[in-house]
Amino acid sequence: MSSSMLPVALQNKLVGYGRTSSAHLSALNIDLIRNIVFILFILRYTRKTFYSLRGYGIFGSIRNVYISLRLFFYGIFLRIPGVRGQVDKQVKEAITNLETKLINSGPDVVRYLTLPKEGMTPEQVRAELDKLAGLEHTRWEDGRVSGAVYHGGEELLKLQAEAFGQFGVANPIHPDVFPGVRKMEAEVVSMVLALFNAPSDGAGVTTSGGTESILMACLAARQKAFLERGVTEPEIKLIFAGLSPIPPTRHSSRLATTSRSSCTVSPCPEPEFKVDVHAVRRLINPNTVLLVGSAPNFPHGIVDDIPALSKLATKYKIPLHVDCCLGSFVVALLKKAGFPEPYEEEGGFDFRQPGVTSISVDTHKYGFAPKGNSVLIYRNKSYRNNQYFIYPDWSGGVYASPSVAGSRPGALIAGCWASLMSIGETGYINSCTEIINAARKFETAVRTDSTISLHMEVIGNPIVSVVAFRSKNGAIDIYDIADDLSAKGWHLNALQSPAAIHVAFTIPTAKAVDLLIADLAEVIGKELEKAEERRSQGKAYILKRGETSALYGVAGSIPDKSVVSRLAEGFLDTLYKA
Ligand SMILES: *Cc1c(COP(=O)(O)O)cnc(C)c1O
Repeated sequence: MSSSMLPVALQNKLVGYGRTSSAHLSALNIDLIRNIVFILFILRYTRKTFYSLRGYGIFGSIRNVYISLRLFFYGIFLRIPGVRGQVDKQVKEAITNLETKLINSGPDVVRYLTLPKEGMTPEQVRAELDKLAGLEHTRWEDGRVSGAVYHGGEELLKLQAEAFGQFGVANPIHPDVFPGVRKMEAEVVSMVLALFNAPSDGAGVTTSGGTESILMACLAARQKAFLERGVTEPEIKLIFAGLSPIPPTRHSSRLATTSRSSCTVSPCPEPEFKVDVHAVRRLINPNTVLLVGSAPNFPHGIVDDIPALSKLATKYKIPLHVDCCLGSFVVALLKKAGFPEPYEEEGGFDFRQPGVTSISVDTHKYGFAPKGNSVLIYRNKSYRNNQYFIYPDWSGGVYASPSVAGSRPGALIAGCWASLMSIGETGYINSCTEIINAARKFETAVRTDSTISLHMEVIGNPIVSVVAFRSKNGAIDIYDIADDLSAKGWHLNALQSPAAIHVAFTIPTAKAVDLLIADLAEVIGKELEKAEERRSQGKAYILKRGETSALYGVAGSIPDKSVVSRLAEGFLDTLYKA
């Protein structure tokens, strides 16, 4: 039989046998390599599955799969032609409402859409600025806005403006041209290091805000893990309160997208609303590059168990970041102001805990510096240097920047330094006293006031400046309370999962706390009357939901957040409508 009659594959084999042994070997090698790649592939996924199972447990993993499937099918449902048209219509309506609310229009509003041909005179510009500052707005000046404006005192604002004036052209990227700014920046960092009990070799940087500080902490941790352990698929364990119903693996925060890491969110279970340290321990795997805890977190103002996280960090040799962005100078000075300090018996929440490697502190929050100021401090220089950007080969010269930014505003650093210097430790202790007294007064009112305490409850056990509360027995929808308070000129923060409201006390709001308590009791009374009326008319529920409910109430009950995301997108677009 001639070989040409054999099946092709067999021919090849026979021909193969007849070939030189080196060709034969290379064929074998390719097979071998293919098998190894396949086994590595299987191993990799087995490993991933193993860590997921260990992290979330069998039921948790099943729940994650269930939630993913539900989201998937709900996404398909939303794309059914009839449904899609309805959703599109409602989204468009909501965005139009937003635009009328946010964009000032009217006969006397002049819109400037291109450069004025000839520049205005200083007087004209001043007149325009006066008009802009005077536009109708929620009255932060009367203390009706939660957070947002942390000081706003006339004297301080004047001093900051003077600092801006003197350093308007300054840019710390040229330390030889602006030596004063270099000195001020280094001193701001040093003052914050001292407030958070850093060791003598502690180091830090200033940034444009809390978001940048946290991003830089993540970047430094990722870089450290890559250099020291070769981690290429970094995971960050984030500990956010109130996110437990959201499948952690799907949580893609800004950190994840920007620092090319995946973020894992550990649950913060009721009733404490603190991070579940056991859950964090189970979620740690060889790709974990950073643990994060808050002191306190934004939603409920709760301080996570930093001593326990520090033990984990030390045991597994993983850096631990503490987010003190919000707590800033208030949390640092609690003890000196005579209030209980978080985890005092266990040794505190800052660098006194050996596992803590970095802390973000927003000087533009309770440091009362102008907006655009934050500080990121590290246990020592070796942590900080991982966030440096150094490019020695650039044809523009050897380039080195401490963070992502190139040019930075020297004026803001001067404004920050001037604020810290003029307020001083005693000033900050006094403001801490004022703010914490107001927060505790409000908390006590929610817990004991005859009207409020019957229907509302405080979330967790806040000890810093934020107090979150929710409806206790379901008689009242907390979002209706938010809308009623809005109608009375208050701007508080609506929270979700669980539905709640929070107040972040600041110098202006602290002065208005009695009014807030009175207004809260009043709107609760009003809502009770409304509920009674509905009951007497035999209506079980309200047909027309308020604004906040429309966003959180309705959105909260549907699994897919794509509609909410579209509204948020519309909101952002509105910001840029000239
Ligand atoms: C405000 C805040 C931040 C940072 O926010 P920025 O607006 O970027 O300054 C980070 N964490 C918490 C808990 C905060 O409250």
